[in-house]
Amino acid sequence: MSQSSHKYSLTTRIFIGMVVGIITGAILQALFDDSGDLRFTIFSFELSTYNILVEGIFSTVGQIFIASLKMLVVPLVFVSLVCGTSSLTEPSKLGRLGIKSVGLYILTTAIAVTLAISLGLMVSPGENLNLSTEAEFTAKQAPSFSQVIVNMFPTNPINSMAEGNMLQIIVFAVLFGIAMAMVGDAGKRLASFFEDINTVILRLVTIIMNLAPYGVFVLMAKLFATIGLETIASLAKYFVLVLAVLAIHAFVTYPVLLKVFTGLNPLMLFKKMREAALFAFSTSSSSATLPVTMETARNKLGVGKSVTSFSLPLGATINMDGTAIMQGVATVFIAQVYGVDLALNDYVMVVLTATLASIGTAGVPGVGLIMLAMVLQQVNLPVEGIALIIGVDRLLDMTRTAVNITGDCTVACIVGKSEGELDETIFYDPNAGIAEEEVDLKHFDQNS
Ligand code: ASP
Repeated sequence: MSQSSHKYSLTTRIFIGMVVGIITGAILQALFDDSGDLRFTIFSFELSTYNILVEGIFSTVGQIFIASLKMLVVPLVFVSLVCGTSSLTEPSKLGRLGIKSVGLYILTTAIAVTLAISLGLMVSPGENLNLSTEAEFTAKQAPSFSQVIVNMFPTNPINSMAEGNMLQIIVFAVLFGIAMAMVGDAGKRLASFFEDINTVILRLVTIIMNLAPYGVFVLMAKLFATIGLETIASLAKYFVLVLAVLAIHAFVTYPVLLKVFTGLNPLMLFKKMREAALFAFSTSSSSATLPVTMETARNKLGVGKSVTSFSLPLGATINMDGTAIMQGVATVFIAQVYGVDLALNDYVMVVLTATLASIGTAGVPGVGLIMLAMVLQQVNLPVEGIALIIGVDRLLDMTRTAVNITGDCTVACIVGKSEGELDETIFYDPNAGIAEEEVDLKHFDQNS
């Protein structure tokens, strides 16, 4: 492995990229007015400087960075899941992994949305607010439960990969891996081929992670140069409440669950999650962050191969606790703004729909709002209410995505530990995985 030539760890470099990006964006926002004109003439910027920087460089480089992460998701999930499944000696283990992961994902999401509704009812973020909205928001129809299950089975796996349909890819990879395990030598030869591809893809992941300080910088600079924060003041109560519930869920629910189910020290989990959380925060997409989440679980938390490759792609798709929290608070908020009294059974309905709606929806920016439309419809609340909160959703999206992936990793640790697939030496080693993710981009190291 090549020795890193950097003074700071990758996490610190990404963090610096984020902070410098936020500051740069905020300065640009302050210097230029909405039409891109300079606010102050003492600066000798050309009028077009803003466009070149923000719409040109920041936007282009940021999109390339996110595309590079997304580019790895389908190959990584497919190949690592085939490797994970084909190496299982006991097929029934897959069933157990599935039941435990899905059970815990549903449990954590249900806790999340219940917490959000309860605190929403206590704090009443939407009471005495008179907000008007001209914006329109049209809801999508919620798929039926049986449709969700049927949709998990691909008719054409190549098409599933082309569309990035995670659940279908998981089903195909698992079946493929099981068949490989059943065919003796042919399966073994194929397995070593897949292992090699997996190693190469993982190296690609670390290469892109090493570019993250720049990627995160441009994403943050673009966002903070363009984000309109005017609506935050009128929605302050809603905004702060969502953040508070996210914090409670991340820093109370997860540690308690981890401690109770595994006895592991939650502080270690948080320490190891920092980098992945920064990725989630700056990309607002648990799907784009998946390669980093998987690397974290495997190399830093010591979760075994089959659990990592099965539970985490599943989690990035079906487990969105942070999103469910926003939906819980938003439902209470919108009901209060419109003066609608919801009964207990309506809230139970909200918990159920918020939990189910997240299944089969990819973890991409803003998808939480689309799912919120389904939740609102279920309890007959006006879907236009979403327009009230759109203005502050971008910042909340970033934060809840970080919570979403922390939830995925917590569940992976619990499932891993219960299956004897969690290496505690790695979990408790503060430096685990750090050397692996430092790549010398200037030299090839043939021996690594
Ligand atoms: N951006 C979130 C995620 O990818 C989903 C959402 O809440 O909109 O996890």
